[in-house]
Amino acid sequence: MSGPTKTALVTGSSRGIGAAIATRLALDGFNLVINYTGSAEAAAKVVATIETAGGRAIAVQADVSDPAAVGAMFDAAEAAFGGIDVLVNNAGIMQLSPLAAADDAHIDRQIAINLKGTLNTLREAARRMRDGGRIVNLSSSVAALKFESYGVYAATKGAVEVLTGILAKEMRGRAITVNAVAPGPTGTDLFLEGKPEALIEKLAGANPLERLGTPGDIANAVAFLTGPDGGWINGQVLRANGGMI
Ligand code: NAP
Repeated sequence: MSGPTKTALVTGSSRGIGAAIATRLALDGFNLVINYTGSAEAAAKVVATIETAGGRAIAVQADVSDPAAVGAMFDAAEAAFGGIDVLVNNAGIMQLSPLAAADDAHIDRQIAINLKGTLNTLREAARRMRDGGRIVNLSSSVAALKFESYGVYAATKGAVEVLTGILAKEMRGRAITVNAVAPGPTGTDLFLEGKPEALIEKLAGANPLERLGTPGDIANAVAFLTGPDGGWINGQVLRANGGMI
């Protein structure tokens, strides 16, 4: 994208993959809206990193599962920067359990954040985003791998992939592309927390490049889709996983 400074909103960008995407898009020239739920300090650090590098950013607290909070976040973005050109739906949680052992909270929480949260921001973007923009949704390669115990999580991501294709069509006439990036195992809190070292090593070796993904690897894939070279890619799911599947 070129012309006057454009604005990107990255949900869940206080930590992990979202923080890497946000700092990368700032280097690519976007104004940034950093979104978080609990980690105000971490979000402020991402803002400071972007400002130190000469960019512009604001931090906005909003739980993506709350439609009113998402509306207020878009209001704040428009007030600060005039409008939104890029939305990256990155906020997400992962809880693992065989379905037989899953309680209602396990099901409801992941659907509320990963699926309803994405619906909330996509609806807002469909109504308010500037023409010529880009939307990138974070899926997961586990939607294709279908590992045991990932059922609810993978189902939310499968739904996000379906939504990606449908919204791409609904944006006809507005020059807004909608794609998904589906990472494999990536070294963040979401992936590492609670996993024994042996399992982490096994998953790191499950792709032919024999390592975990880094948040930067995923930010590179997102930056391709939001940048000048990605403009003809629309309605697609890009798996960024070193060849795991
Ligand atoms: P992470 O390190 O746990 O970071 C999650 C981010 O999302 C944090 O900034 C967190 O904010 C934010 N967040 C969580 N719930 C939120 C909510 N309700 N509203 C707004 N923000 C919320 O996770 P990650 O590994 O970077 O994952 C990022 C995305 O990549 C997720 O969609 C995940 O499913 C996907 N993904 C990750 C992997 C992997 O191996 N890491 C693989 C495939 C897909 P706070 O700091 O305020 O809590």
